[in-house]
Amino acid sequence: MDKKVIALIAHDGKKAEMVEWAVKNKDKLKDYSLCGTGNTSRRVAEATGLEVKSFLSGPLGGDQQIGAKVAEGAIDAIVFFCDPLTAQPHDPDVRALLRIAVVYDVPIATNKSTADCLLK
Ligand code: PGA
Repeated sequence: MDKKVIALIAHDGKKAEMVEWAVKNKDKLKDYSLCGTGNTSRRVAEATGLEVKSFLSGPLGGDQQIGAKVAEGAIDAIVFFCDPLTAQPHDPDVRALLRIAVVYDVPIATNKSTADCLLK
């Protein structure tokens, strides 16, 4: 059976947290097919040694690419550590991704404790 697909996205202010979370959960994450926005996927791949398929960087369309995959039914869950304290130039894309995840009932964890629940 194909592995379930998890998309990983972290805003700059949350990348260290994402890397820490991914390293801590490496043993669980290896059972999934991983993808993510450009910089997040690279940082997670470097820190964990896991393969993480890379989309474009978030501000350059990566969130939209992941949203399109959600609409195609190609993504099973999203871990999205968004930074609530910093304005994002691509806020419309972020909101579109949150919306499309709701439309397709795809779980989207926007903080660490929800992400932990997702992997349980
Ligand atoms: P990045 O994109 O992983 O390429 O930095 C994340 C984002 O800011 O949406």
